[in-house]
Amino acid sequence: MEKIRTRYAPSPTGKMHVGNLRSALYEFLVAKHAGGDFILRIEDTDQERFVEGAVDLINKTLKLTGLTYDEGPDKDKGFGPYVQSERMKTGIYLKYAKELIEKGEAYYCFCSKERLATLKTEVVDGKEITVYDKHCLHLSKEEIEKNLADGLPYVIRQNNPTEGTTTFHDELYGDITVDNSELDDMILIKSDGYPTYNFANVVDDHTMNITHVVRGNEYLSSSPKYNRLYDAFGWKIPTYIHLPLITDENHKKLAKRSGHASFEDLLNQGFLPEAVVNYIALLGWSPEDNNEIFTLDELIKKFDYRRINKSPAVFDMQKLRWMNGEYVHKMDDDKFLEAAMPYVSEVIKKPLDKKKIALLTKSRIEVYTDIKDHIDFFEEVPEYDVSMYEHKKMKTDVKSSLDVINDVIPLLENFNDFSNDALYAMLSEYVNEKGYKTGFVMWPVRTALSGKQMTPAGATEILEILGKEESLKRLKAAKEKLEHSL
Ligand code: GLU
Repeated sequence: MEKIRTRYAPSPTGKMHVGNLRSALYEFLVAKHAGGDFILRIEDTDQERFVEGAVDLINKTLKLTGLTYDEGPDKDKGFGPYVQSERMKTGIYLKYAKELIEKGEAYYCFCSKERLATLKTEVVDGKEITVYDKHCLHLSKEEIEKNLADGLPYVIRQNNPTEGTTTFHDELYGDITVDNSELDDMILIKSDGYPTYNFANVVDDHTMNITHVVRGNEYLSSSPKYNRLYDAFGWKIPTYIHLPLITDENHKKLAKRSGHASFEDLLNQGFLPEAVVNYIALLGWSPEDNNEIFTLDELIKKFDYRRINKSPAVFDMQKLRWMNGEYVHKMDDDKFLEAAMPYVSEVIKKPLDKKKIALLTKSRIEVYTDIKDHIDFFEEVPEYDVSMYEHKKMKTDVKSSLDVINDVIPLLENFNDFSNDALYAMLSEYVNEKGYKTGFVMWPVRTALSGKQMTPAGATEILEILGKEESLKRLKAAKEKLEHSL
């Protein structure tokens, strides 16, 4: 059996969008599941869209996500160069375009911008394209030679038939037949000498022995034109796997503007690379069982591309948050602390035990950026209403809370072991002596210390972290607040 070879072929035009990353991941998984090779090819032939630094971002993302390529710009295994602008310098695209001209499958076109502007346009995949009228197909050999000798700017176009049909096969979408009249004479070589994506992808996929082409389904409609190129050269057509669209929660195409559209944005929002990879794996694919949490190695084992779904995949931020939480909760403490500490330090300026504070949040947060909301009260008690002291189940109200706090202040003033266990034992003794329920005491104490209904720690844990002085300061402020309200 032939060895499977897939490629990730990004255009370095900016951020790494979720759709790009999904293509990379699925290409990686299709290859690795079958023990094949995953290749990185940089498609930088559109000089106008080239963005400085975009290649570095691609490399960084592949490293962070663990999508290690077997071949690429810095790992030439005999199919290089792996960057299209460098491949162009070898003359490969022009050579093949000329071969097509010889075969009558392509032709020089010298039409001026002005002439093209007078031609009919059509909207294909949301983009307006000019339907070329084959004017230059009919130039004589002499006219062409003269134009070339005169140095007239030209492009090379594919010569597609206007009658009949072309059928192609996609692993997910099955056989698709299109009328040849729909196939425009697309440009293969541009006037700047660069090949178009449409041409370069075919030449490169063939010359790099790519067996499976995995990409977004925006390329589905161009595939018959690609197949005509493969056929014209007598090359074997690769297996096509076109991936479903990714939409947002409103079933609109994932907008680049919205924060969750790029990998970088997701990392900045506190998501973990491994959780993002896991989530993205499920954007269009599902395993046989209902399990949803997978390491990359498990994905490699499970990923059968026949289980990719054709219908659009919905990017659900809530689900990604949930999944990220699953990863955070299972993380070992050291790794968690390494990533969480900057978020804690941003909030906590007082000399408190930040590690302890960080670890309180580990089982409670979904993403690191949630940390702030859980811990900000350690730095400062927020504004709160005295009604927070009223708790039905704990049977507390403003008056009972004031009584408890009045008792607890001197108890703490005379107590020096501010460790959670000792504090808990001391307050339990008070609870028992008075014949109260634990919550009847702990609720007002915790409210006074935090000003919050929900905290990542109980009253005595908070006392331990705040220490004697700060705790008493807060309890006294609460006492005043309660007195005031009565
Ligand atoms: N350079 C193309 C893109 O970034 C690649 C498409 C493909 O995988 O063939 O969209």
